[in-house]
Formats: sequence, structure tokens, C-alpha cells
Amino acid sequence: MKDIIKHYTNGEVTIVWKPGVCIHSEKCFHGLPAVFNPGQKPWINVEAATTEQIISQVKQCPSGALSFFMNTEYRYNATGRHRIKGTKINFSDKS
Ligand code: SF4
Repeated sequence: MKDIIKHYTNGEVTIVWKPGVCIHSEKCFHGLPAVFNPGQKPWINVEAATTEQIISQVKQCPSGALSFFMNTEYRYNATGRHRIKGTKINFSDKS
């Protein structure tokens, strides 16, 4: 279980969940229960809040089990599709 990594996305942001790192503080559940609900499957419903709300809550995870990255954005021009952004953000350092 330690190496399991799951992803949940709303198309704009992707939540990364590492169950082996979770210390079960329930901070996510109490802070944003519409999204983080162990009683539902899947337990993360990324469509139940805004991207900003989700990011704010993920940043409060005390163990680093939750992190996120913004999904890649593309720009289209005459030569085709080009990736312009794919920002990975890791909050293990709590900065
Ligand atoms: S806030 Fe982080 S450590 Fe606490 S239950 Fe949620 S995922 Fe686990």
C-alpha cells in the first residue's frame, strides 16, 4: 500500500493521493467533506468544489499524502498543438 498513488482530476487540477502516507488526521474530511468523504466511492469527489477550494484544502494535509498539480494546458497554432504549462506542485515542504 505504501507505493500506491491515485489521481483524481476535474480537468483543471489533479489531486494526488498516497494512501500509504496518510496519517488519518481527517483534516481533509472535516475541512471539505463534499470532496473528501471516506464514506463514498471514490472517496475523493473532485467535482464537488472549486479548484481553488480543493487546492486550499490539499495544502493543509499534514502528512503529504495529498498533493496536487495543475493539468497541462495547450496552445494551438498553425503548426499544431503545443504544451505550454504542466506545473507540478508538491507541498511536502509546506511552503
Ligand atoms: S488530511 Fe492528509 S493525512 Fe489527514 S486524512 Fe486527509 S489525506 Fe490523510
